[in-house]
Amino acid sequence: MSEDDTFFIDNELRIACADAVELVTEFLDDALSPEDRANFEIHLSLCEGCQAFLDQINRTITLTSESKTTTVDVLPDNFDALLDALDSATSKPETGD
Ligand SMILES: [Zn+2]
Repeated sequence: MSEDDTFFIDNELRIACADAVELVTEFLDDALSPEDRANFEIHLSLCEGCQAFLDQINRTITLTSESKTTTVDVLPDNFDALLDALDSATSKPETGD
């Protein structure tokens, strides 16, 4: 592996969705290492599901912070609910059988 490899990998997700999900909180905290951050951002740029997921989290945090002005802990428990929302948000209606 050389650093140059980074520039050739632009068509891969780099990390699994499950890994991306785990990086979300640190990403929002700006606590990712440069490598993790790059992987996360590349994954996000290619993965509509994770884009929607991050959007859901951002929306949740925004809504909550507006009403409580407190930081939201995004916990695995919350992920389940968010993933449910994501699932219904990304489920494309079947157009005919
Ligand atoms: Zn993903």
